[in-house]
Amino acid sequence: MSDTRHVVFNALRPTDDAEAVKAAIGRVVDSGWYILGPEVEAFESEFAAACGTAHAVGVGTGTDAITLIVRALDIGPGDEVITPPLSAAYSALAVMMAGARPVFADIDPERLTLDPAAVEAAITPRTRALLPVHLYGQAADMTPLLAIAKRHNLAVIEDAAQAHLCTSEGRPVGTMGVAGAFSFYPTKNLGALGDGGAVATNDAALATRIKRLRNGGQTTRYRHEEAGANSRLDELQAAILRARLPRLPAWTDRRRTIAAAYRAGIRTPALHVPREFDNGHVYHLFPIRTANRAEAQAHFTAHGIETLIHYPVPIPRQPALAATNPAQCPVADRVCDEVLSLPMYPSLTDADVAAVIAAASALQPVGR
Ligand SMILES: *Cc1c(COP(=O)(O)O)cnc(C)c1O
Repeated sequence: MSDTRHVVFNALRPTDDAEAVKAAIGRVVDSGWYILGPEVEAFESEFAAACGTAHAVGVGTGTDAITLIVRALDIGPGDEVITPPLSAAYSALAVMMAGARPVFADIDPERLTLDPAAVEAAITPRTRALLPVHLYGQAADMTPLLAIAKRHNLAVIEDAAQAHLCTSEGRPVGTMGVAGAFSFYPTKNLGALGDGGAVATNDAALATRIKRLRNGGQTTRYRHEEAGANSRLDELQAAILRARLPRLPAWTDRRRTIAAAYRAGIRTPALHVPREFDNGHVYHLFPIRTANRAEAQAHFTAHGIETLIHYPVPIPRQPALAATNPAQCPVADRVCDEVLSLPMYPSLTDADVAAVIAAASALQPVGR
């Protein structure tokens, strides 16, 4: 092979933001104030503005963002929350951390987000909320999901951990349901240099309750009104996120450009490239599908292209879920055997993208 290019799956070191990130870190180090201070407060208002919501509350992780929304809605033991089998397992684990039971409804075979008909079939008298995931940066099928929720009087909690700045038919994620849960894990579209998360919401009372829950349930200092969590976005991460947030629109544009190049360039019958369902897609990941994934992954590796699988196991098949008697989801079972994520991040160069397309194009369908 003449082309020895190596395309890594992800590049987390700061790029055009490096100076701004270092300045932000220095500012916090010198400030002597590290938890719940001016950086978190400023980030919360800047992030809310970016989300198109009235409020944002910084928390420790994206998982905690989901758990605290569930708790703030007084959903807990005995209650059910409907969620998809194809996601980071944290979506369902967050429901369990709140004491409620995740109930799985299968995914749409093309869109790969919650199938509204399956959701309707999974509703029981104990169902309290839907937890759609805006997977891979693409909004869930919100119009029918919101209609189902309204008809059955259910809350809608949006898992937007992979979907910063994503819209669904023009509506920003986090504004359609009661709240959106965001993660700032380093690989996410907006990442910190450590863990972080936020809840974005238009509901002032919910934001206030989550501010209480993230801080031990305190109403005033040393008065713990309820058994809250200890889950705060720290000043250092908030300052880093403030340095990066203004760059997020340009980074998102770059992801969309790369996705368009992949779509135009990858034309082998050996690979299925799912169509774009909504141009509000922010391309956190770019999964393709193939019935011969092991061979395809080995082929990309041989061409110097790193790929990963999101996700290899449907959440209901995880050992941690066994005791909850999860529903079987045959579509997710099949999709988990077929998905393969190609490199997708803003600093991917045009030459990297061309190398991925060339490697994909050299993949022969099985039987040739
Ligand atoms: C990353 C992620 C989470 C969890 O976020 P953390 O910040 O890692 O806790 C939840 N849901 C989805 C869909 C994710 O991708």
